[in-house]
Amino acid sequence: MSAELFSRYDSVLLSALLDTMEDVQYCPRPVCQYPVALEPGEKMAMCPSCGYAFCIYCKMVYHGIEPCRFRSSKYSFHKFMRFTCSADLSSMFLTTSVFSCR
Ligand SMILES: [Zn+2]
Ligand SMILES: [Zn+2]
Repeated sequence: MSAELFSRYDSVLLSALLDTMEDVQYCPRPVCQYPVALEPGEKMAMCPSCGYAFCIYCKMVYHGIEPCRFRSSKYSFHKFMRFTCSADLSSMFLTTSVFSCR
């Protein structure tokens, strides 16, 4: 696995963790990663640094009225953790994070 891929997964994990803790998400752009404050009840966030508008649930470019692939950030977080726990690289994360597979 490349270092680039690892850092991408790592940033996803970190942003997923942030989702559950406070109303801040990092800009999904790997080169940016600017912390973006979320508006309460708002499904879209715009990065003040690069101007990237993204869906707070799937982190993709904001898709307007299109239904999101994820019903909520909590759902996507658990889905992500299930995926991580079943992947070969899970041990790498679990030794460096507070998470554990249940
Ligand atoms: Zn940005
Ligand atoms: Zn979405």
